[in-house]
Amino acid sequence: ATMPPLLSAIANAGRHGVLIKSAVVMERLGRIDAVALDKTGTLTEGIPRVTDIRPLPSPGLTEDALLTLAAAAEHPSEHPLARAVTEAARARGLVLPPVADFTSAPGTGVTATVDGRTVAVGSPARLLDARPGAAEPAAELAARLEEAGRTAALVVLDGTPVGVLGIADRLRTDARSTVARLTELTGRTPVLVTGDNPRAAARLGAEAGIEDVRAGLLPQEKVHTVRGMESVGRKVLVVGDGVNDAPALAAAHTGIAMGRAGSDLALETADAVVVRDELATVPTAVALSRRCCRLVV
Ligand code: ADP
Ligand code: MG
Repeated sequence: ATMPPLLSAIANAGRHGVLIKSAVVMERLGRIDAVALDKTGTLTEGIPRVTDIRPLPSPGLTEDALLTLAAAAEHPSEHPLARAVTEAARARGLVLPPVADFTSAPGTGVTATVDGRTVAVGSPARLLDARPGAAEPAAELAARLEEAGRTAALVVLDGTPVGVLGIADRLRTDARSTVARLTELTGRTPVLVTGDNPRAAARLGAEAGIEDVRAGLLPQEKVHTVRGMESVGRKVLVVGDGVNDAPALAAAHTGIAMGRAGSDLALETADAVVVRDELATVPTAVALSRRCCRLVV
């Protein structure tokens, strides 16, 4: 017996490295006519590395002391940036003190109690917003790193900024060709939606062939961006990997999660999962849907 076209398309997508969760999804995927791509972990490899460790002159922590505080606070987090920070500490052989009261704010950063002191690590824009005035040297240092294409992570100790880490990630080798292929399939260039800073985002977008870059977005603002596109009649495919992408993956016409480093929440929320860790499988799955469903209808 031959398999029904939808089922054989699902099997075929699976062979290409995309797990489609249902026949309904397989059918819907081909109808998308616009795409919103997350940056960190989606357009980039998601293996960011700490490239700069910059203590502020006051209180003048050593590089190792700054990195130890940041890594201790980040240790419980599954965010790719958190992994970069803990890996840098491991590479230097630093011993991390125990952590309590860990909390994370998607799109912003983490907070924890380290050795009885409160440590926050995260977006300079968001953390400095909360304490205007006291922050100029930290903001300047962060801006310089961001102009160089880095993601800056501010480290705040008991309410005082004590240093900034610079973190850099590489564009996936198939990012540019995937953007071109998605542009061909939908007739529109994808947009980049990211919680990262506008400077680093614009630079990376340009490398991938994307001009429409929406940066500094909180998870709910990614949803608003998608709803905005859908309100003018678009059927939007969202591709993302993080906890911060889950609401947009749920709101989109179709959501695809990057599987290798993807957060559990993103994998559960998405309609399909890239299991082979190649972004190029996304346009392939769209093309498969279009082919199979022309046969069905
Ligand atoms: P993206 O949308 O590009 O995947 P996120 O929304 O996950 O990025 O993060 C947005 C920004 O929030 C990051 O660029 C960073 O400044 C900050 N951030 C979030 N989580 C962390 C973390 N665990 N450590 C440091 N910074 C973080
Ligand atoms: Mg991401």
